Amino acid sequence: MRLARPVMLATAALTMSAAALAGPNPATTLTEQSNAEWLRKLPFADRADFEDARRGLVARFPERTIRNAEGKVVWDFDAYAFEAAADAPRTVNPSLWRLAQLNNEAGLFKVTDRVYQVRGADLANMNIIEGDTGLIIIDTLLTAETARASLDLYYAHRPRKPVLAVIYTHSHVDHFGGVRGIVNEADVKSGKVEILAPHGFMEEAVSENVLAGNAMSRRAQYMYGTQLPKTATGQVDTGLGKATARGTMTLLAPTTLITKAIDTRRIDGIDFEFQLTPGTEAPAEMNVYLPQFRTLCIAENAVRTQHNVLTLRGAQVRDAKGWSYFLAQSLLRYGERTDVLIGQHHWPTWGRERIVEMLSDQRDMYAYLNDQALRLMNQGYTPLDIADQLKTLPQPLASKWYARDYYGSVSHNVRAVYQRYMGFYDGNPAHLNPLPPEQTAQKTIEWMGGADAVLGKMREAYARGEYRWVSQIGSQLVFADPANNAARALQADALEQLGYQSENATWRNIYLTGAQELRDGVLQPGVGATSSSDLIRALTVPNFFDYLAVRLNADKAAGKTVTLNWQFTDLRQRYAMTLRNSALTYVAETQHAQPTATVTLTKATLDQISLKQLTLPQAMQSGAIRIDGNPQAVAGLFGMLDNFDPNFNIVTPHGYRK
Ligand SMILES: [Zn+2]
Repeated sequence: MRLARPVMLATAALTMSAAALAGPNPATTLTEQSNAEWLRKLPFADRADFEDARRGLVARFPERTIRNAEGKVVWDFDAYAFEAAADAPRTVNPSLWRLAQLNNEAGLFKVTDRVYQVRGADLANMNIIEGDTGLIIIDTLLTAETARASLDLYYAHRPRKPVLAVIYTHSHVDHFGGVRGIVNEADVKSGKVEILAPHGFMEEAVSENVLAGNAMSRRAQYMYGTQLPKTATGQVDTGLGKATARGTMTLLAPTTLITKAIDTRRIDGIDFEFQLTPGTEAPAEMNVYLPQFRTLCIAENAVRTQHNVLTLRGAQVRDAKGWSYFLAQSLLRYGERTDVLIGQHHWPTWGRERIVEMLSDQRDMYAYLNDQALRLMNQGYTPLDIADQLKTLPQPLASKWYARDYYGSVSHNVRAVYQRYMGFYDGNPAHLNPLPPEQTAQKTIEWMGGADAVLGKMREAYARGEYRWVSQIGSQLVFADPANNAARALQADALEQLGYQSENATWRNIYLTGAQELRDGVLQPGVGATSSSDLIRALTVPNFFDYLAVRLNADKAAGKTVTLNWQFTDLRQRYAMTLRNSALTYVAETQHAQPTATVTLTKATLDQISLKQLTLPQAMQSGAIRIDGNPQAVAGLFGMLDNFDPNFNIVTPHGYRK
């Protein structure tokens, strides 16, 4: 998975709005019936996953929490103790409940000789390979605190050998963010610790979420349910694991990049074969095969859920066809020589036949989603038609637990395929230039006979269990008049029942967060988004300039022309920047002949400003930034930049404040 860049520290200190509407509600009878039907739809008697999720258990974590240096809890192993109940509560889809229980198995596990795995201490897994004299760690979790605790658990039960190498399987932060918890930078610099990563890792790790970072992190709150209580009426899972850990995200740059499609290396007596899988689950990703242990680490390319072709917090659409292609290659290359399959989320699979079946199924799943969406698209169907036609995967694939809709879903993945090939416009001229949301809502409600008439019909539809429709029309009512508390309450009720019925963990979190915000308003997350100074420092100057351009307020910049020469003395880089027509552009390795001003500084100073350790005026005063030419030019440009609201509205009109 990929988190949006600044992960919020969801502390308990929340500012509640004054008049919160009631909730949560119990499941309605219709929801209860819907959830009960799932018990007949899927093979719940098959308990093999539970055996596998507990197989090889060496030890549970000795403490019930993981804490940071200040003693604050960053991970709580008891948060989901309520999931021990065998039967799903009425407010949770039984298929999701089953996965939630499986993901709650935390501890150190022996996978096979010299291969260990720590699971359940963060969203992802840490795999530990025992070399001849030290350890090779595959992925380091999201935060330094959970990574440290995971390695400590290993050391409590196995010989205390040094970490000699770290492998990042891919460029998503839940797989590298904890690196400083298990190795120190000096050992990496001196060559004592090698860090291996796939080609393109750093660029993707730091840049993927910069330009859209604020919007992505706001929507990630919905997707992961970070503001929801962990209860049977709240957040129960994320599909890939229990939750995203709090704590400190870090990054140490790789020392060795894998650039060949297939690359073999020996590290501390262990043979590694790397299979690059670019443009799959992540732009930079690789699988790792260990021939001596007949073990294949499939990174995040195959997990025990249908994965996302498009993650709902927002991202660029992934290539389901390419993903399928690389799984086929893995299967062909390693299938017959693999006795155990490990991944960076969920539990392992043992046995060659089962592994071949699982990889074949995963290959087929992404190919099916891609090709069937395209087939129907070429038949003239639009995204919602396609999602409605392709409700599930074909049998028997649809009955495989690892193909279920816990994280990705058929519904949103096939729409994502449409988006990848065709974009936002479905071809219907009526959808080319419709009125914006509030105007549409106001006119629709007025033409439907006014808010009270609509509300009456909504109540009837709610009683019939038409929750999708009620939430759709409820959104119109709320956008027509966000102060209409009856509308907000009823829409919240409908979203909540949809959440209770959803098999998909991210859909559940999204529905329930929507209900929460309709009832209580937008909760203000506790201040102190996890420090990611490593990530800021890893940004290139072009990354920084691109982000400045995104923050430029076109109205404030209207009619202004500025030319700036930038000189970074430590990097020996020069840039010519131009503000013109409310657009900020730049060219590297050149300078304007007659600039408005020339700015001379170091990248380190720029990082300090980005990290808010230094203001622009302070830097100018201290001489850390030298400006030749018009001194107002730089301050003027920074004065035209927007600051983004991390808590912008989603279920109510933009800018509305209760
Ligand atoms: Zn992940």
